[in-house]
Amino acid sequence: MTSEPTRWLTAEQLGPTFDDGGRILLLENHEVFRRRPTHRQKAHLYLVALRQRARELGDRGALHRVRRYRDALTDAALVPGELEVIDPPSWAARRLVRELGASILPARGFVTGEEQFAAWAAGRKPTQLVMDRFYREVRERTGILMQGGQPVGGQFSFDADNRQPPPKGAVSLGLPDAWQPVEDDIDAAVRADLDALEAQGVRFLGRDGPRRFAATRAEALAALDDFVATRLGDFGPFEDAMMLGDDTMAHSRLSVPLNLGLLHPLEVVDRVVAEYEAGRAPLNSVEGIVRQLIGWRDWVWHLYWHLGPDYTRRSNALAAHQPLPAHWWRLDGSATDARCLSHTLDTVGGAGWAHHIPRLMVLGNAALQRGYDPAELTAWFQGAFVDGTPWVMPANVVGMSQWADGGVVATKPYAAGGAYIQRMSDYCGSCRFDPKKRLGEDACPFTAGYWAFLDRVEPSIRGNHRMAQPLAGLRRLADREQVVEQERARGPL
Ligand code: SF4
Repeated sequence: MTSEPTRWLTAEQLGPTFDDGGRILLLENHEVFRRRPTHRQKAHLYLVALRQRARELGDRGALHRVRRYRDALTDAALVPGELEVIDPPSWAARRLVRELGASILPARGFVTGEEQFAAWAAGRKPTQLVMDRFYREVRERTGILMQGGQPVGGQFSFDADNRQPPPKGAVSLGLPDAWQPVEDDIDAAVRADLDALEAQGVRFLGRDGPRRFAATRAEALAALDDFVATRLGDFGPFEDAMMLGDDTMAHSRLSVPLNLGLLHPLEVVDRVVAEYEAGRAPLNSVEGIVRQLIGWRDWVWHLYWHLGPDYTRRSNALAAHQPLPAHWWRLDGSATDARCLSHTLDTVGGAGWAHHIPRLMVLGNAALQRGYDPAELTAWFQGAFVDGTPWVMPANVVGMSQWADGGVVATKPYAAGGAYIQRMSDYCGSCRFDPKKRLGEDACPFTAGYWAFLDRVEPSIRGNHRMAQPLAGLRRLADREQVVEQERARGPL
């Protein structure tokens, strides 16, 4: 019996951050696709990433196809010596490795450690764990974009500069095509395996297509280079804009290799800060990336642990119990006339990805207004998006987007009418609805839906001072009852 430990790495731990040079075990489990609806391109991405890593590791690594993680991790033939893990990124995996008595190293791949976060959160009420405060303190602690104890540029956040609508009259931002990998024999083998699973009755979400996202360390570095060279400058100003002819716009799509562990967030931060310091990138773009990585991304990771394993199941502050419409699960945009929603569902069906504003202000907004069940919606986001890890969706969907935790993650429900979508996109021009209308044949379901939502949840949000103004508007609405009745009759979107 060998004394060298065997380190099991999950599919979220595939980069150099997680490799200290010893023997590595990788596990490929197709049973999860039977249990949890998963986008076909997400399944493809994960399997390619595991197999590419195994090929890179050569004799030092082993990849096995298994039906149950527990069986594999207790099999002495697969795990010679002690089982070692870097604390894995889901409640289920952490529970399992503790039950098995594995040697557990602290989690990696984030900027703030779990003990640092626990110290920060200690003594604060759940509603005082706000992201802005956390982000400021991480900036101060790490010195990132700081000078003489002050934030570079005189303020911590340039979010207010990052809300430009899409350029008028243009069909896209006019940037080069987004970086895309060249597929190889591993992609072909994975595609054949997924075809075989489909033939056996496994139902994936969305459509197959060429792989769009980085699945190896080399691809992740190429995607980072490409983003810095072609998109970083436009990222900040157009961060919140949406265009029918340009789904990527200036977004990096680096959440995918980051969530596979192929890049460390500080690598990306160092790179974009160096671009700012060399005078090649504007501060509002660079600070926007820094805030997303050392602020938001780390914050939702820590909240996943801090809020506990039953956070999603127990959170439904607005009593939202409508099941998700079947066409959301089919990712079929043709089932709805709302152009913004139809386009976004089709985009996700085709790529397993959309940037944060269609996620929050179209999909999340529609679900919030229509009262879709937040736990089902979270499972949907997790399965349908290529970057949907178990830890990333609860705080984003349950907390930020659906306000189902009653105000831990977001200070108010993120509901908006059609005016927001009209201002920040070119969707409304080709829609049969009118974003200015709340009543009638062509009443916008987001504009009317906003008022119907406020009407429904008024008793639950009356005490929220940030909702005082919208609720005052609701009370002044002369046609309130007709709008509510119209939206009740319209039903799910
Ligand atoms: Fe969406 Fe309303 Fe605009 Fe149509 S009019 S695209 S439904 S916001």
